[in-house]
Amino acid sequence: MFDHQIKELFLRYGLENHFPVDPFLIASKEKIIVFHSDCEFSDRFGMIRKSKHQGIIFYLASNWDLTHQRFFLAHLLAHFFLHLSDQEHVHMHCHITYATDLGTTNRKECEADEFARCLMIPEHFLNKCLTNKKSIAYISQQLDVPQNQVHARIKQLKSEHSRNSSNHLLPKDNVG
Ligand SMILES: [Zn+2]
Repeated sequence: MFDHQIKELFLRYGLENHFPVDPFLIASKEKIIVFHSDCEFSDRFGMIRKSKHQGIIFYLASNWDLTHQRFFLAHLLAHFFLHLSDQEHVHMHCHITYATDLGTTNRKECEADEFARCLMIPEHFLNKCLTNKKSIAYISQQLDVPQNQVHARIKQLKSEHSRNSSNHLLPKDNVG
């Protein structure tokens, strides 16, 4: 769904061959300051502040492992690219349910998670791994993303493919 947008983003910054994707590098290219915080994040994983004076600042929960932090940052970047461009002042936070719990129904939060998965889990790499019968654990480790997000990305691509009735289907027997 967001693959075209993400391809343009990689081209703009010459990141096509960076592997695995580094959301910290993308944030720095966008001149976003990323702070780590461990005090106010009992139920949040991140916060975004945008103002004329300070520019854009992300606050990222540091009480999670780096794999999760990378995904959280990709989620915050998604808000930045999709939802905040026309807003001058922003002060928002993301509840921990999003980016970890795949049952969320909030539209913008779902979009941010989906964008983050497209960003962090490239379709061509995923297809190659599934064709070669690689495990979810292997894919998760190679891409440095949480395993449940790999599951969700496979599900997402399958439903896109069945909607488009494409003949290029992901193998069915490698999910589980
Ligand atoms: Zn969010």
